[in-house]
Amino acid sequence: STEDKTPRTVGDTPKGGSVLGFYAAKGSPRPPRIARGEGVYLWDEGGHRFLDATAGAVVANIGHGNPRVLAAMQEQAARVTFAYPRFFESEQSIELADRVCALAGEGFDRAFFVSGGSEANESAIKLARQYAVVTGQPKRAKVISRNPSYHGSTLGALAVTGDAHTQSIYGPMVREMPKVSAPLSYRIPDGHTAESHALACADELETTIVREGADTVLAFIMEPIGGLSTGAAVAPAVYFERVRSICDRHGVLLIYDEIMSGAGRTGAFLAAHHWAGARPDFVTLAKGLAAGYTPLGALLVPDRIVDAVAGSGGFVHGHTYFTNPLSCAVANAVLGEVIEQDLVRRARDMGELLMARLREVAARSPIVGDVRGKGLFTAIEIVADKATKRQLPASFNAPARLTEHGLKHGIALYNRRANLGAFGDFQMITPPLTITPAEIDELADLLERSLRGLADEIAA
Ligand code: PLP
Repeated sequence: STEDKTPRTVGDTPKGGSVLGFYAAKGSPRPPRIARGEGVYLWDEGGHRFLDATAGAVVANIGHGNPRVLAAMQEQAARVTFAYPRFFESEQSIELADRVCALAGEGFDRAFFVSGGSEANESAIKLARQYAVVTGQPKRAKVISRNPSYHGSTLGALAVTGDAHTQSIYGPMVREMPKVSAPLSYRIPDGHTAESHALACADELETTIVREGADTVLAFIMEPIGGLSTGAAVAPAVYFERVRSICDRHGVLLIYDEIMSGAGRTGAFLAAHHWAGARPDFVTLAKGLAAGYTPLGALLVPDRIVDAVAGSGGFVHGHTYFTNPLSCAVANAVLGEVIEQDLVRRARDMGELLMARLREVAARSPIVGDVRGKGLFTAIEIVADKATKRQLPASFNAPARLTEHGLKHGIALYNRRANLGAFGDFQMITPPLTITPAEIDELADLLERSLRGLADEIAA
């Protein structure tokens, strides 16, 4: 039969149907069905084209359908796709570790490859813990993080994720870890400058370490620029220096979660490179590292940590797919593109152009209160009233509404739940780093049309 049996809403997904049967709210509209991708564009089965304005979930850093990556994938697949990494080394993983550590710079000597961001953060926390145990600090077991924050969806990563909604469901199953405030950039509290507010947030870390007992605190994990959590809010340089000096003073390891911000997205290979005083001990990467061609995450650490753990018999941790040769071959090809196309510099230059366009859109829109970010890691914030920065009610679900308007206008916008507090209803704008000036103009135009649709809906 040629009859279209595709269910129109998520609630009527048939047995054996889409993952969305688990994921989306019952009755919500079904998204288009993907057919292919090329460059910054995606096409659905009906032939509709969408500009991928967020690179999916901030993943497709080099765009879709890159021939060099596809060739590398094919070549490696023909050689070998899996060989258990405890039995066999692979040239691809060794090469990738060398290249990623060289790009990350001083202090990063070893890379541990896993299948994604959550696994990378689990690996960071567990390696930090094992390091503390083997160096005679067994009481150090608390990992402080920020509120809000997003570090992944596994139970360990959730323990350090600052998000009231997930906490309300999974709270009893995760060990509650101390949280400190993440600095705001738009709704800076009265009586504060951006600097004094950010320093107060950093000082909250020290107060918390002292209150918990410094000898019980293992690490502090933070996104240097938050994505899903703070919507690309950028703190002033003094914040990063202060956090580092507090961690130094109390022997606390500093972990930067660069799963979204890393791999060139902000106009530096690591966001940490923007601030000389940042100097994290551990960095986690994923997303842009293999740019969506294969699943891959990484933990980067200094020799001293691995040497100490190796001296006690090695890291008690692993996954079936760690150091996967196919993923590593793909990431090597992705890095080849990043370097040859000078995409880190491009992220900086195109980021300036994108921010300028977004500011023009914001000036014309009654509902865009803020434009923020660094490089091509940017966001706009949707408000009910620009003068007072008043927010829309969470029940209106502005990010999801904007995504729907976007799909109608041919622009794909990844979002998250509505209004998670003072960071507001932001929409990330994070296109592939390969985007051209003409495509940025098109992005801004499609976004503006979508925002107009949303503004009309709000006014109605
Ligand atoms: N950390 C950050 C900052 C993220 O943005 C994400 C994903 O969005 C994760 C961790 C989790 O990564 P994954 O979804 O690959 O497990």
